[in-house]
Amino acid sequence: MRPPLRYYVLDRGDQLSVDLAEQFHTLAAQHHFEMDAESPNIVISIGGDGTMLHAFQTFIDRISDIAFVGVHTGHLGFYSDWKADELPELVELMSNSILSEDIPPRIVKYPLLELTIHKKSGTTSHIALNEFTLKGVDGTLVAQIDINDQLFEMFRGDGICISTPSGSTAYNKSLGGAMVHPTIEALQIAEIASINNRIYRTMGSPLLLPKHHHSDIYSRKDQRLLLTVDHKNFTIDDLISVSCQVSKQKISFARYRPYPFWNRVRSAFLEE
Ligand code: NAP
Repeated sequence: MRPPLRYYVLDRGDQLSVDLAEQFHTLAAQHHFEMDAESPNIVISIGGDGTMLHAFQTFIDRISDIAFVGVHTGHLGFYSDWKADELPELVELMSNSILSEDIPPRIVKYPLLELTIHKKSGTTSHIALNEFTLKGVDGTLVAQIDINDQLFEMFRGDGICISTPSGSTAYNKSLGGAMVHPTIEALQIAEIASINNRIYRTMGSPLLLPKHHHSDIYSRKDQRLLLTVDHKNFTIDDLISVSCQVSKQKISFARYRPYPFWNRVRSAFLEE
């Protein structure tokens, strides 16, 4: 028998998501699940992929102890397997799974991006589920990109996006980056409107780095910069560099039924 289910629910805040969260609490009480806001072992996100980003960042300090489940109340999401009308089925499967280790969920783990931001005023570390971006606030971003401590290129343009495999279907896709299966432990560097002419030159193609590689981005002029980590953003005017690599930590999703990544891609982008 598995340990008791301690859950927490995060919803998007719209009426449908709030109502579904209420319905989840009612069903959970019937199955004797324990609500635990401090140390849940399952976190249910109700809304969209954006809601999962919030759920992930809320429990960032406990991600090794948590499995996430997503319920979508809009269009199908990459992190959300369950439809609104499937909530009773989901709770039933969650309840059955407590009885035996042989009953799903299967825990699926996805790679994350780790970044360390070095500023004149100090150093901070972050983990992203989707991506990290760096952009100039007042104009062109001027930055040096190193790969494995070797100069790779001088970048001038709107910005740089470094994404995880599961984030490759988000902002990265809009930038012409490749969609990457989340079993591949990698990070992807994609350019945001680079300047390319006789004087300035960048690679122009997205780059995929394996987990034992790292990239450092150095600020190369006095500039105000906008950094985003998933849905969060910060403005910085004393950036020295940002170091990026595949994190040693992973996010876990509890899969109570199979939903292959390529089926999600097809449903999200190709089906009407
Ligand atoms: P938002 O404006 O609500 O989200 C933007 C869209 O990205 C939403 O439709 C969201 O889906 C979708 N999305 C999030 N993660 C995804 C993923 N892994 N695969 C496919 N689609 C995904 O903003 P937010 O809720 O604060 O989310 C921030 C995210 O927005 C960032 O992580 C970034 O990836 C994305 N973004 C995209 C662009 C772009 O494509 N040009 C620009 C800026 C930011 P839901 O509707 O299901 O929540």
